Amino acid sequence: MNKKNKILVSACLLGNKVRYDAKDNLIDSSHLTRWQEQGRLVPVCPELEGGLPTPRSPAEIQSKFPLRITSFTGEDVTPEFLAGAEKTLELARQYDCCCALLKSRSPSCGNLEVYDGNFNGTIKAGSGATADELMRNGIPVYSERQLDQLIEFIDQLDSYDSSDFQQEAI
Ligand code: SF4
Repeated sequence: MNKKNKILVSACLLGNKVRYDAKDNLIDSSHLTRWQEQGRLVPVCPELEGGLPTPRSPAEIQSKFPLRITSFTGEDVTPEFLAGAEKTLELARQYDCCCALLKSRSPSCGNLEVYDGNFNGTIKAGSGATADELMRNGIPVYSERQLDQLIEFIDQLDSYDSSDFQQEAI
């Protein structure tokens, strides 16, 4: 297996109780189980990496330019979110991750949608601090809602790797 096929994953999707409310977002997927058994998953919680505790007050993005993220209690947590994004990128590089599977709608991990900043459950188009950092640096980000696309992507990489291997063996 090519080491490039490691996948960075939101720790909460693997059942780690790292969410703001100390719960998880475990997803039940045989593919994920197989990748985990193969040692391909690199779990990370960017908010913990940035120094926030569990449990913590939920946070939402108030503005993108400049980035401002606040907690429900009004605390500015932008520095922690940015630090978490930077450390997560370092981790992705350290393990040479080919892509990331991140929790949708999180102000850190969301790749296509986020909550709108009013703490009333409204969703809008947008992305979180860590998803942005990874995508800016060329690492494709999928959410658990796009698992089929991620599976297809990984299957393609695996088939390229095995055809490289066969060519080398000839
Ligand atoms: Fe899950 Fe990401 Fe939130 Fe951590 S920051 S709890 S990994 S969604």
